Amino acid sequence: MIQDIDRIREDFPILSRQLYGRPLVYLDNTATSETPREVVEAVVNGYTRTKANVHRGVHTLSQEATELQEAARRKVAEFVNASSHEEIIFTRGTTEALNLVASSFGGMVLGEGDELILTVMEHHANIVPWQLLQSRIGFKLRVVPMLPDGSLDLEAYRSMFNTRTRLVSCCHASNVLGTVNPVKEMIAFAHTKGVPVVIDGAQAVPHIKVDVRDLDADFYAFSAHKMYGPTGVGVLYGKRSWLEKMPPYQGGGEMIESVSFEKTTFAELPFKFEAGTPDFIGISALSKGIEFMERIGIDNIAAHEHELLEYTTGRLLAEVPGIRIFGQAPGKCAIISFLVGHEHHYDMGMLLDKLGIAVRTGHHCAQPLMQALGVEGVVRASFAVYNTREEADLFIAALKRVAAMLS
Ligand code: PLP
Repeated sequence: MIQDIDRIREDFPILSRQLYGRPLVYLDNTATSETPREVVEAVVNGYTRTKANVHRGVHTLSQEATELQEAARRKVAEFVNASSHEEIIFTRGTTEALNLVASSFGGMVLGEGDELILTVMEHHANIVPWQLLQSRIGFKLRVVPMLPDGSLDLEAYRSMFNTRTRLVSCCHASNVLGTVNPVKEMIAFAHTKGVPVVIDGAQAVPHIKVDVRDLDADFYAFSAHKMYGPTGVGVLYGKRSWLEKMPPYQGGGEMIESVSFEKTTFAELPFKFEAGTPDFIGISALSKGIEFMERIGIDNIAAHEHELLEYTTGRLLAEVPGIRIFGQAPGKCAIISFLVGHEHHYDMGMLLDKLGIAVRTGHHCAQPLMQALGVEGVVRASFAVYNTREEADLFIAALKRVAAMLS
C-alpha cells in the first residue's frame, strides 16, 4: 500500500492550487493525469541542456538527445515486457497509434466483405480510424455488446467469429465504465481462429500491470499523458513479425533508408514508422513518468485507487438519492460514471467545478456506448495515485450539495 501520500502529492505542484477559494480536487484523471516534478524537470532539461535533433547529428548534443530518446524506448519496452525495443513505435498518442495500425495493418489484412470485431465500449479513437479505412475498403464492422453490469458479452464475442473475421480491436479498460476486459482470454480465443488482436491500452497502462507478451497482444497502444508522463507522446507496441510486413504509415525524413525519384527504400524498425522529427524531449521525459510509477509500484497504485473506488462508490450509493452508476463490473478500475435523477451532466459538472471539484462531463468520446446506455452523457470522476480519502469526502459532500441545489 501507499505509505506517504503527502510526499507523493508534493511532487505534483498543481495539486496545491486553489479554485474559487477552495482546494482543487482533481478527479479527471481518465482524461489526463497530472505530472510529477521529475517529468517537468526532464522537459525543462531537454530544452535547456540537450536540445538538438535526434538521429541526425554527429555533434554531442544530438548524440545526447538521441541517447535519451532511445533510452526511453528501452524503458518502455521493459515496462510492458516487449521482446525488443524495436517493437516500440513512438507516436503522438493512443489516437495516432490506432490510426497507424488501422491504416497500415488494417489496410493489409482487411479486404472487401471481410469482418472486423470492435466492442460497444470503444473510445472514438478505436472506432473512427477503422471507419475511415472501411470507407475505402468496404469491410463489415461487428460490435460486441455488453452485459447489464458493463462487462463484455463474451459469448456474443465468441459467436461473432466466422471465416471472414480478419481482426479484433478492443479496449483493455473502458474510459467510461472502468470495465477491465479479459483481453488475455479474448486474444487467446481470436488466435485459435488465426485472427490478430489490437488492444487500446490507454486506460489500462496507468492502472494495472501490462505485459504484452503474456497477453500475446499483436498490437498495444497507450498515451504518456495519462500515465504521469508528458503530453504529445504515445506508444504503439507491435509484434516484430507484423511490423516488418506492414507498409509505412507516413512518409518523410527518418523513415527511409534511401530515396531517389525512381525508388525509395525504408528504414529498419522502429524508424520505418517514425517519419519526421518526433517529440524527442517528451519521449525522454516519459522515462521519468515510468520511473515514478515503478518507484511506487503498479500494484500499490492499483490497490490505492481500488480502495478509493470502493469507498466512494459505497458512499455515493448510500448517500446520494437517485444516483445511477454506469459500470459495476467486478475488478473495474477507479472510474465512476454517474447521473443523479434527471439532472443534466453539464449542470452538475459546472456546479462541482465551482466547489473546486474537477470532473468530466459529456459523452467521453464514446457516443455508441452512450447510446447503448440510453443516455446523452454522464458525469465521470476518476482517481489516480495522488488522490486521497479526504478528496473523496470533499467530492461526495459537494455532489450532495449540487444534487440538492438542482432538485
Ligand atoms: N482510448 C481510450 C480508451 C481513451 O480513454 C482515450 C483518451 O481518453 C484514447 C483512446 C485517446 O487517447 P489520446 O487522446 O491520448 O490519443
